[in-house]
Parts: sequence; C-alpha cells; structure tokens
Amino acid sequence: MRASVLEAIHALPAPLNEAMLEIAKAPQFDATISADAFDSLKSLSGLSDADLRVALLPVAAAYSVAPISTFYVGAIARGNSGRLYFGANMEFEGVQLNQSVHAEQSAISHAWIKGETSLKDITINYSPCGHCRQFMNELNGAEHLEVQLPQREAQSLHSYLPEPFGPSDLGINEPLLAAKSHGLSAEDTCPLTNAAILAANMSHAPYTNNFCGVAIRDKSGQIFSGMYAENAAFNPSLPPLQVALIAMNLADVAQKEIEEVMLVENANSSISYLQDTQGMLEALNPDIPLSYLAI
Ligand SMILES: [Zn+2]
Repeated sequence: MRASVLEAIHALPAPLNEAMLEIAKAPQFDATISADAFDSLKSLSGLSDADLRVALLPVAAAYSVAPISTFYVGAIARGNSGRLYFGANMEFEGVQLNQSVHAEQSAISHAWIKGETSLKDITINYSPCGHCRQFMNELNGAEHLEVQLPQREAQSLHSYLPEPFGPSDLGINEPLLAAKSHGLSAEDTCPLTNAAILAANMSHAPYTNNFCGVAIRDKSGQIFSGMYAENAAFNPSLPPLQVALIAMNLADVAQKEIEEVMLVENANSSISYLQDTQGMLEALNPDIPLSYLAI
C-alpha cells in the first residue's frame, strides 16, 4: 500500500480507521469495497450511507498522481452490484494537459474494467467540472445517476448538467458501460495481445467505430487492460492507454514499472489511436516498446 493511502486511512475518525485498515491490508484489496464490507463500516461508524462515502473520499484521493497541479481529487463510484470503486485524478509530467485523467473518469473506468455495467451513484470531493459532467452523461443510466458532494444533498447528474447534449442527439442509443462485444479476434496471439483484444471488444466507440484497447505488461508480468471510452461531445473521450494507466495506478503499480504496451484497434474506422498512444508513451518514457495490431 502506498504511503499516501496509509496516511489517509490513519487520518479517518476512529473506529472507521481501524476497520478500513483491515480491509486495505488484505492481500486481495484492489481499491474497491464490497457492499457487505461497506454495510459493516456503516454499522460500525454509525454514519449514513452518504456520510460514509464522503468520509472515505480522502482514501480515494490518496491514489491521485498530480505532479502538475498538486490538486488531489478523489471519487467513489458505486456500481449496480453495490461494490464501491475508488478513483483519483492523474496528470502526466511532460505531457499536454488534455491527456490528464479526472477522478470521476478514474472511478468510472475502474468500475467498468471490473465488470460493472451501470452505476448507482458517484461521490466526489469537489464539484464535477464541465468535462466530467459531459463524460458522465454518456453512461448507461446517466438519467438516474446521483452525484454526492461533501456537505450537500445528493443531486441527479442532470441537475448538474441541465439541457444536456448526449448520445441520442447523434442518433446513438448505445451507452457507455453497457455490456458489449464487437467481435474482434485474431489467431496465434500472446496473452498481452489477447488482453488488448478483449479490451477493444469492450470499448465504447459508437461515433467512429474505432474499437480499441490497450494492454500494459509490467516488469513483474502483470497485465493491465484499458478500453477506449468515446463521448458524444468528442473531446471528453478517454483514450484506451489512460484507462490501462488508471487500472495500474489503482493496483498500486507505478508507471516506471511498465515493460511493454500493446494497442489493438479496428482496422476499419474513421480515426486511429496509434499516433496518440505513441506520443503519450514517448513522453512518459521513450524506452517503452509499443506493439500494434489493426484487425
Ligand atoms: Zn473533471
């Protein structure tokens, strides 16, 4: 566990701190809290559901990697299964700001990577920026999504985003997070390529059909996948490399541990993520090899 997470847990009020420490110290802890564990924390602390989520935000924010702003944002997304997923903002030194990841995108991608197909609510330690309001409007069940901020009543996403522009304005009914597979496959592939193909099949790209996925192998051999999340407003789209970097960050693996990266994308689309992925990796560390497969 990284020092910032441990510090944030120690700083929680007693007895929440000890109970959370026990959860986080378990070998299987993956920056999520099961519905049962959350219920136990609720009874133990005597906090309401919303107050407990707000109380846990500093733990989510402790996953932040923000060398440029030093502004640490945490988010907790609760999937329909009841599990809670931590997320935090990420900035990349030497890389243009539009490659940054917002805490909401981190928590939402985290839930998506781990199989959630819609969310009940999201709790954030700062008011969501316009970019994130638009990003969340792409989600399966966006019209029912509740946004919880500290010291406020929960409000619907659409109260934060009145008169929204969304997928239906472009004739798209397929939301982000909904289960899907685009039928991409390849023969004679290695585990890294397979992971990238799997991610590409889960990607959300209804506007360009650029179904794409990234898989990162770290120095210990672990593989982290990321799928592309496109947005009706185009610019808030989240690149597949970022989603894989989110997975890696929440698994407590540092970026310097990246050994190699694989990008798989649909050969028949109107855009490509090859140049963007190459550019971003080049800025992170020019020695990271990138393999590419268009299928
Ligand atoms: Zn944001």
